[in-house]
Amino acid sequence: MLGNLKGKVAIITGSASGIGKRVAQMFAEHGATVVIADLNLDSALIVANEIRDTYKQDTLAVAMDVTDEAQVNAGVEATFNKFGKIDILVSNAGIQTISPIVDFEFAKWKRLFDIHVHGAFLTTKACMQKMIEKGNGGRIIVMGSVHSFEASKNKAAYITAKHGLLGFVRAIAKEGAQYNISSNLIGPGFVKTPLVEKQIPEQAKSLGITEDEVVKSIMLGETVDGEFTTTDDIANLATFLAGFETNALTGQSIIASHGWHIQ
Ligand code: NAD
Repeated sequence: MLGNLKGKVAIITGSASGIGKRVAQMFAEHGATVVIADLNLDSALIVANEIRDTYKQDTLAVAMDVTDEAQVNAGVEATFNKFGKIDILVSNAGIQTISPIVDFEFAKWKRLFDIHVHGAFLTTKACMQKMIEKGNGGRIIVMGSVHSFEASKNKAAYITAKHGLLGFVRAIAKEGAQYNISSNLIGPGFVKTPLVEKQIPEQAKSLGITEDEVVKSIMLGETVDGEFTTTDDIANLATFLAGFETNALTGQSIIASHGWHIQ
């Protein structure tokens, strides 16, 4: 049955906020035990407690900077020790940095890559090791973006990193197959989370237009309905992919962007 995550153990990175938080809630609603892994432990604890109270599922909150190999390994180990397995990883932690290429600070460029690309690698590596040890297979979902396929001004680091994740997901599909580990990339359009709220004034300043124009023309101008993608849109898709029973969809990227980018 699709969407049934009963008895599954899922680590979701960056799940103290936004998309990751909604994915964690929906996974728990569908029967999963969820691990809230985030840089921000205070918020992660609050989310884990809320989910435990609302959905009556076991949860764990771990402090995890996905760029720190020791912290990633410790969080994955803590999950394995507490729940005995890891079935699903959602590599979702991310940031945005707005700057034209000519002004882009190298340190900020590298930090963004560290989080999106190296974070996806470190968490996938650690979780795949546990999935292989347990022998039950697994599902790895990486949060890409429409910017895994499209470019916009002032987001070069993000666009480059998100394009890179497309290749990573395909590589996981090929290497994971022998262990029944599948992978997918989800490509959201603009979702109104703190990550996007922050960039509206930044984009307005950088492009010399109003905040309203940023939303209407830049963010939603190419959609079919002028609507933001929602955290529910993405959580529904993640639940579908995490619960998909065969490897038929492995390596595929699925975009949810209200028609902004149609493959
Ligand atoms: P958000 O800012 O609401 O949440 C991001 C979370 O990641 C936060 O809880 C933050 O503490 C955490 N985080 C940041 N750096 C981290 C690190 N080094 N280690 C661990 N956790 C860290 O953002 P969001 O909009 O929910 O974004 C989630 C993912 O979705 C990101 O990968 C983002 O690129 C992607 N995405 C977002 C949108 C959008 O429009 N919001 C669109 C496409 C893709």
